[in-house]
Amino acid sequence: MTHPAHDYAEQHIDRFLEDLKHLIRIPSISTQPKHAADVRRAAEWIGSEMEKIGFETVELIDMPEGRHPLVFGTWMGAGEDAPTVLIYCHYDVQPAELEDGWDSNPFEPTIRDNILYARGATDSKVNVITQLRAIESVLSTPEKSPVNIKFILEGEEESGSETINAFVAKHRDRLSADVSVVSDGPIITPHQPSMVIGLRGIIGMELHVEGPIQDLHSGHFGGNTHNPVQALTEILAQLHDENGTVTVPGFYDNVIDATPAEREAIAGADPYYEANWKSTSGAPAVWGEAGYTIQERAGIRPTLELNGIWGGYSGPGVKTVLPAKAGAKITCRLVPGQDPARIYEVIKAHVMDLAPETIKVSMEMQDMGAPAIRIPHDSKAVRVANKAYENHWDRESVLEVAGGSIPIASTFATVTDEIVIMGYSHKGGLAHGPNENTHLVMFDKGIGTAIDFLLMYAE
Ligand SMILES: [Zn+2]
Repeated sequence: MTHPAHDYAEQHIDRFLEDLKHLIRIPSISTQPKHAADVRRAAEWIGSEMEKIGFETVELIDMPEGRHPLVFGTWMGAGEDAPTVLIYCHYDVQPAELEDGWDSNPFEPTIRDNILYARGATDSKVNVITQLRAIESVLSTPEKSPVNIKFILEGEEESGSETINAFVAKHRDRLSADVSVVSDGPIITPHQPSMVIGLRGIIGMELHVEGPIQDLHSGHFGGNTHNPVQALTEILAQLHDENGTVTVPGFYDNVIDATPAEREAIAGADPYYEANWKSTSGAPAVWGEAGYTIQERAGIRPTLELNGIWGGYSGPGVKTVLPAKAGAKITCRLVPGQDPARIYEVIKAHVMDLAPETIKVSMEMQDMGAPAIRIPHDSKAVRVANKAYENHWDRESVLEVAGGSIPIASTFATVTDEIVIMGYSHKGGLAHGPNENTHLVMFDKGIGTAIDFLLMYAE
């Protein structure tokens, strides 16, 4: 598609790359309080750039202490009859230290073989700059943008998204739009675009078991006092049967099964998934629910995962202790039909049923969680996005049902008519790990795609 916005992007691509490096050099690590000022500096820089490129309103929305600001800007110049596009990105990053195994300073962007290495290169500063500079390119043309634009960026996606969830719930009218574009997450490879049309939801909880009032001598009390570590593992061992099915009564109630078309999409999404499972997981053998492929087990089926377990002594040597307490962290990945709060309640009820009188059990919900979402693969937003990717990658997108969760996507699904997830990083980008990277061959293609989405959504 030839349009002056693309000419503008091409002329300014070197500056856009410098912008990405600039934003990367600000260590906006949301989870570490010592970086709070850096998170704010990143927000201020993005806000001032939005003002420069012509947004009509730009606000830094401050939240209660300890939380990081939202950046929210609007450009409504396309008029009341034109569609409105709400774009979401996050500008915070995960922690990173050179000693974690990086080959270069994680906050000094380094290019080797046309790959840019840095924290945030893929998750998700490349998305921030891609969207920001696509908007700039469109607004730079004489006709400006054919769609109204709302752009919201959060600074704590990596640390819970509490602020934005509260903000969206309270300001639905300010965010209202025809479509939300969640610009986070990767495409399959730098050469193969893809779109996520299904995400699992999530709910997290902690299970605490208490026995004696303090740690006891295993010689004096072992044999007559129920050991909390043992009691905990006895309960946990009953949460799945030998086929990998979750045994909690009510857990699978209301599950909306994937349609044959969705199962077909998942099978075609990543033909290498099954072949690569062994090398990528490194586990000795496949495990999981009978009747489902290994991709389906991690995509369209709900799970109950034990994330951590503690109790007693695990240091060197022997300590003959009968511990006073034990605990475990549990998260469930949810599928359409499952309500996170209800899933917590059925698990809690079942755990209480399983708990013997010899110990005390309590449970705690970790956060409010998020339901799963499915995006209709024939919606206007998905069709336009697919065409936009195709214009620049010369191939159609693969549609994926992903096993992960983007809780904010569930939130936006409640404020706009439709939603689409468009990422400009790639799956091999090592998000959250050392040597996080983005391939520079994707950078101008991504900006071109984001431009085309804005231009074509108006048609
Ligand atoms: Zn992340």
